[in-house]
Amino acid sequence: MAYVSTLRCRSCSREYPAEPVNVCEFCFGPLEVVYDYGAIAKVISRERIAAGPLSMWRYQDLLPVDGSEAVDINAGFTPLIKCHNLGEALGLRNLYVKNDAVNPSYSFKDRVVSVAATKAVEFGFDTLACASTGNLACSVAAHAARAGLKARVFIPADLEHGKVVGAAIYNPTLIAVEGSYDEVNRLCSEISDNYRWAFVNINIRPYYAEGSKTLAYEVAEQLGWRAPDHAVVPLASGSMFTKIWKGFQEFSDLGLIGSVPTKMHATQAAGCAPIVEAHREGTLHIRPIRPDTIAKSLAIGNPADGLFALQTVKESGGSATAVPEEEIVEGIKLLAETEGIFTETAGGVVVSGLKHLVKQNRIEPDELTVVYITGNGLKTQEAVEEVVNPLFIKPNLESFEEAMSKRTDISR
Ligand SMILES: *Cc1c(COP(=O)(O)O)cnc(C)c1O
Ligand SMILES: [Zn+2]
Repeated sequence: MAYVSTLRCRSCSREYPAEPVNVCEFCFGPLEVVYDYGAIAKVISRERIAAGPLSMWRYQDLLPVDGSEAVDINAGFTPLIKCHNLGEALGLRNLYVKNDAVNPSYSFKDRVVSVAATKAVEFGFDTLACASTGNLACSVAAHAARAGLKARVFIPADLEHGKVVGAAIYNPTLIAVEGSYDEVNRLCSEISDNYRWAFVNINIRPYYAEGSKTLAYEVAEQLGWRAPDHAVVPLASGSMFTKIWKGFQEFSDLGLIGSVPTKMHATQAAGCAPIVEAHREGTLHIRPIRPDTIAKSLAIGNPADGLFALQTVKESGGSATAVPEEEIVEGIKLLAETEGIFTETAGGVVVSGLKHLVKQNRIEPDELTVVYITGNGLKTQEAVEEVVNPLFIKPNLESFEEAMSKRTDISR
């Protein structure tokens, strides 16, 4: 059974029954799931979690749905990898990558959509929908296929090919909108007022967002039941960032880990950094911008959870970094060449962001640092096409040796 008690407005604290609503009627603040932690504390334990399924559903006591009925394509339980090579390149001795690029639809979005799709079925919806910057489209289409739901998936028309194909293959109704993500999102809010569809990141958003907490639970369990000193995270709406923080807090409050030393470091691409800008200006007021970045998965100019992300930075003693556009591909290459992990542009942002954090002495060499890699590089091939150089040869030894002798780059 699920331990949800109500929804609560994050701005004015008014409570609402746990229904498919996401906005407070009084102040228009976002609603968040409230749990009966007393009841959870009576059942949860390290042993109970460890005996659970090898997926995000091992943490179902802390999710707002009944996991036995989950719409599940096996999201989560992804590797946490100790990275000696990348650590050496950056001057860190205790560095880990949480590799969420290997989820079933190749991004962390499977965690949030698995919860949202399960909730949609529970509420009796027959249609799963979303406004997406790309990865969400793939995940919603995949989960709808698994659940036998109809799918209405809205994307900006200029997305990377890998994300269009990665969503279209599940045969959703895929709607490519001539406009930015923020325009797609506005359109979808209007549509959701007129159609009874489960928009995972609109009317189902309070439940959807909870799925990201499993990124904290898993890391804590994989580290031997502790929270890291630093978490470095890419932000679009800012939701995942705030929920990773919430996940560590919950584990600590329930006595599953000790106190939480984690400093939460927010990273965005320079071409779309409204949260970082607000942090730099020392304000909690986010000024919406028009994105111009190759990190399309992070291209939200008007981030719904920006305020809460800023509060998380502050509460945790973390930081916020904008990564210059030309360093995004460098970050992708660095992770690939040192650790054999191919991430998308959002991963390039966090890896290069980490480099800046080390340079600014925000992270000490021995501190336990976790970098969240949230999406897969095969979906953003356009970004790296110019930096990959195969040797084209004739099928004979001479041609091979000639090509090798002319090799000027520094490939291994
Ligand atoms: C959506 C997405 C994010 C950010 O998610 P938010 O919760 O909106 O901040 C990060 N990385 C990747 C790869 C994504 O697709
Ligand atoms: Zn309110």
